[in-house]
Amino acid sequence: MIWRKIPIIFSILIACMLSLVPAALANSFIWPVNGEVITPFSQDEHRGIDISARIGEPVMAAQDGVIHWIGKTPAGEPYVSIDHPGGITTTYLPVQASVSKGQTIKAGETVGTLSSEPDKSSAVPHLHFGLFDTATRDDKNYINPLDFLIGKNAISEKKPVL
Ligand SMILES: [Zn+2]
Repeated sequence: MIWRKIPIIFSILIACMLSLVPAALANSFIWPVNGEVITPFSQDEHRGIDISARIGEPVMAAQDGVIHWIGKTPAGEPYVSIDHPGGITTTYLPVQASVSKGQTIKAGETVGTLSSEPDKSSAVPHLHFGLFDTATRDDKNYINPLDFLIGKNAISEKKPVL
């Protein structure tokens, strides 16, 4: 009988809807700085993208959210992380924060300025921008930020959003 299958169908529908959440956020994040991607994302070696920027340049929140953390990496680089509705967290480094933990922020508002400590992936001044599934905060499942950023200087590595 079909009614016996309804809970199963319903569960499948819910599962499908949940899996669509990140897809719904695709191409909705703004570029935190207006530069070129100088180092692409690599799941094993480089868990973010490096965007060229000037030291002291303002760094913007990529999407509305709440400042989750302001701290330093083990290498001593200052960073900011933001939790966004929909289950995505973004990280920005090296950034001298001008916001405080727990503060709400809108897309495009300044989180701080690019600090002078370059990260170890390139000698050129740049922002390292990372993005992960908030639910994986402990072991951080990083995702390619280019799948979430609005068009513009998206480079060839960008996968089509199906
Ligand atoms: Zn980097």
